[in-house]
Amino acid sequence: MEQLGFEGMPRRLYPCTPTRLSAWLDCPRRYRMSYLDRPPPPKGPPWAHNSLGASIHNALAGWWRLPLAQRTVAAAGGLVGRGWIDEGFADAAQSAQWRQRAVAMVQRYVAGLDPADEPAGVERTVATRTPTIAVSGRIDRLDARLNDGATELVVVDYKTGRHLLTVDDARGSMALALYALAAAQTLRRPCCRVELHHLPSGEVLTWSHTDASLARHLARAEDIAAECAAADDQMRAGLPAGRNDEVFPPRPSAACGWCDYLRHCPEGAAAAPARRPWDGLSPISGSPAEPDGEAVRQ
Ligand code: SF4
Repeated sequence: MEQLGFEGMPRRLYPCTPTRLSAWLDCPRRYRMSYLDRPPPPKGPPWAHNSLGASIHNALAGWWRLPLAQRTVAAAGGLVGRGWIDEGFADAAQSAQWRQRAVAMVQRYVAGLDPADEPAGVERTVATRTPTIAVSGRIDRLDARLNDGATELVVVDYKTGRHLLTVDDARGSMALALYALAAAQTLRRPCCRVELHHLPSGEVLTWSHTDASLARHLARAEDIAAECAAADDQMRAGLPAGRNDEVFPPRPSAACGWCDYLRHCPEGAAAAPARRPWDGLSPISGSPAEPDGEAVRQ
């Protein structure tokens, strides 16, 4: 797992996930607290929107694992109800209201699926490597579809957040592009199509990559990974007190209100008010949208 670096010195292949690379891009301080600080600083309370997202993802994965005859719309709703994650909600009533919503959302989605259309993978871990990085990740669903008489893999990513998505979200997602490359490598079949399935709206946003666009995403991932690796090395070598912020600067923004480490970060606390654990849920009946620049993705 060692490669020759530019100076002819052995260099470790950098193991990463798309989530880790995105964390570095979003905020190097948050990256440090998430991946390097040991013990890690305690996070804030769980988020209700994460509970919603995980409950839905788990139910959909469980549905595909049922025997074909049991893959009914009602069964999908039952899986949501039984696996409901009850964390981060304001109270039992709000949790129950969202559980009901999630059941309806999943049942509506599943009603549009063919239960016999067996995916090539469900929550499948895939991996690939280049001369500098070893990237891996878990794909919500990997479909095998016929295209011009040949079978190709399609990366399906479930989304449960309140924001409407666009095709640009599918096109610009480095994570989806890396998943496509890794799926092709792992299953040895072509994979260039990626899809975001937004359950709240029922929309499917699709993008078909070319070899060139996949290569661009991969090159970007390698660049980001090189920055991470250099910062990790400095941390491992023992950063003198006070130099943490030079290598891992905070990147305060309006999104800091959603950061799990806000309580450990004065700059973030000055940039945005702390959010309540259930603030990432969309309003049940029309309340104002969140301010620009704040993102709650699930
Ligand atoms: S609060 Fe903001 S600046 Fe601070 S670690 Fe979190 S994301 Fe970074």
